[in-house]
Amino acid sequence: MIVILHPDSSLDTDEGKAVLSYLSNKSGITPRTHSITGTDRTLSEIYVIGDVGALDQAEIESLPGVEKVVRVSREYRVIGRHAGDVRDAGFTYNGVRFDQHSLHVFAGLCAVDNPTNVETMMKLLQEQGQVCTRMGAYKPRTNPYSFQGHGATCLPWVFELAGKYGIRVIAMEVTHDSHVQEIRQALKDTGHPTGVMLQIGTRNTQNFELLKEVGRQSELPVLLKRGFGITLDESLNAAEYLASEGNRNIIFCLRGMKTNMGDPHRNLVDFGHVPVVRHLTHLPVCIDPSHSVGTRNVGPDGISDLMHATAQGVIAGANMVLVDFHPRPEEALVDGPQALRPDELSWFFEDVAIARRAYEARLARAQTHNTATES
Ligand code: PEP
Ligand code: MN
Repeated sequence: MIVILHPDSSLDTDEGKAVLSYLSNKSGITPRTHSITGTDRTLSEIYVIGDVGALDQAEIESLPGVEKVVRVSREYRVIGRHAGDVRDAGFTYNGVRFDQHSLHVFAGLCAVDNPTNVETMMKLLQEQGQVCTRMGAYKPRTNPYSFQGHGATCLPWVFELAGKYGIRVIAMEVTHDSHVQEIRQALKDTGHPTGVMLQIGTRNTQNFELLKEVGRQSELPVLLKRGFGITLDESLNAAEYLASEGNRNIIFCLRGMKTNMGDPHRNLVDFGHVPVVRHLTHLPVCIDPSHSVGTRNVGPDGISDLMHATAQGVIAGANMVLVDFHPRPEEALVDGPQALRPDELSWFFEDVAIARRAYEARLARAQTHNTATES
């Protein structure tokens, strides 16, 4: 059960405190509090965990300060969409809005290699009017002898270059809590020239201790990748771990499933699940065509499989695209074979825009139908 307080009855007011004490006095009930800052108001919510069946919903709704009580109908208490749920969803980070209506492309380096390539990339992105990118500093690799990423040493110059070219959010993978501390420290030391969205990779989707640590801080939002060998439900529960620890600023990323049924792609493209995640949860949904497709193969129509997969995700309503680009893919230290080239950058953005227009047209058509059916 979720008890939503009136916008003017935060948890610090007498009314808010009275609601909390009412719930705390019920046996078998544990209330947990959350505050969510939306576009135009801050909502205070109390998550009621335990024997909620015995609670009187109407009585709670009649308490001063209570706007609404939502009975949680699914497993995903915080991230889930529940019947009658009017909560603000999404978040704004470093001036960029992320929700189920927005669309942002995070094109960039799979792995940070050298300042020249990072600067070239950032400059190209700025020329395309982009404010987001991806930059891997900590790389989880299958082979222990493969390049593991530059780690903390590259953070100051990556952040400064990002600031120089107007990049507001960098998606950056972390595999350990110490990485989160290093990123926060480097942002502070460099005067916050940019922002970081912490990425939890597919190999760590069920690293529960990492999820708890990342969920306990709310300064940086989180991009959680779907686990490549587990069910969607298990991956969504991983997102719930983050949210239950207090960090609600989460984006859920589909990145393909590991199975040879996906061959010759690197993974089986799972972007048919974009609408599924959007109706099960409030989370904005990201697609990662690079790690799903894994090649630059071009079909007989002259369009790469990677662009086709991207368009499939965007036309289904994806809110974010994470894609590998490299100024010279043949020199990339990680994942060069799937990285798009600089001369493809403007084409890629145009292709995304074409797919987005098609999604918007589909949305308008659906609204016409649904309005006619309702009246
Ligand atoms: C990545 O995005 O660089 C990455 C390693 O992705 P994944 O965790 O999906 O394999
Ligand atoms: Mn990669």
